[in-house]
Amino acid sequence: MDSLPMTMDRDSLQQLLGEIDTVLLDCDGVLWQGAQGMDLIPRANEVVSRLQAMGKNVFLITNNSTRTQDSYHEKCRSLGFNVDQDHILSAPYILAQYLKEIDFRKKVYVPEKVEGSLYNAVAQGTLGLDPNVGAVAVGFDRDFNYDKLLRATSYLANPECLFLATNTDKKYVVTGTRHHLPAAGILVNAIENASSRPPRVMGKPSLNMLYMLQARYNVQPEKTLIIGDTLDTDILLGNECGMWTVLVLSGVTTLQEARQLTTNQDPQKQKQVPLFYLQSVADILTLLDEPVSNQVSEQQ
Ligand SMILES: [Mg+2]
Repeated sequence: MDSLPMTMDRDSLQQLLGEIDTVLLDCDGVLWQGAQGMDLIPRANEVVSRLQAMGKNVFLITNNSTRTQDSYHEKCRSLGFNVDQDHILSAPYILAQYLKEIDFRKKVYVPEKVEGSLYNAVAQGTLGLDPNVGAVAVGFDRDFNYDKLLRATSYLANPECLFLATNTDKKYVVTGTRHHLPAAGILVNAIENASSRPPRVMGKPSLNMLYMLQARYNVQPEKTLIIGDTLDTDILLGNECGMWTVLVLSGVTTLQEARQLTTNQDPQKQKQVPLFYLQSVADILTLLDEPVSNQVSEQQ
């Protein structure tokens, strides 16, 4: 067998598509890109339509916590993705479903804008904590600051208060630059360190999305393909539960980074090695439309 991840050719794609009935597509870096996430990866929407036309059940799964379910659906439609709203699973949606499942009745503290400085509030007893808050939920927040960290940490001093994170992604890539944007995981890390408590993570690589897909759509991991651009979320999730994994190089990961994992002795890193890689999700169309060259030339 070739070293992992393997190059995907027409035959291996056809074989893989014969094995699966469900496709999970990560969004940022796979279907779209850019600081606003509004730049369509060329032909990504055609890939979704093509897979659907082949009878595959296609879900878009994202750790991005900046939009509501409605807003994601709207965005998908504006970029030409023809998917139902219930086929879009975002980390905030999973978080909300989790709270429903555990019949959570208290308030959730989502770090909000704080008026004035809280720096002296601890000593002065003026922190203004709401006694009805029973959970702290953290996602991406461009206005994160010391006061929010302080208030979140203060709620989490109560061991009964839940600590929930939408995701622990560390960076978002901005195409065309070597710089990247720090993502929600950095903020979660800050609160985790300050509170000395680990969060319950809702998005990938936690298995919550899989559990929901199993319960609602009877999705079977061994008949599922996950396509993502991030090794420690998308690919790890896929390998943890026995899905087929494809890394695309249109996002945060280089082929070199994926290859280096194969020699890493850490078993946790080994679980992040994808089976196949593609430059872009659009390669699926190119491969499917490739003429069967050998047969054609033999006939000529
Ligand atoms: Mg991604």
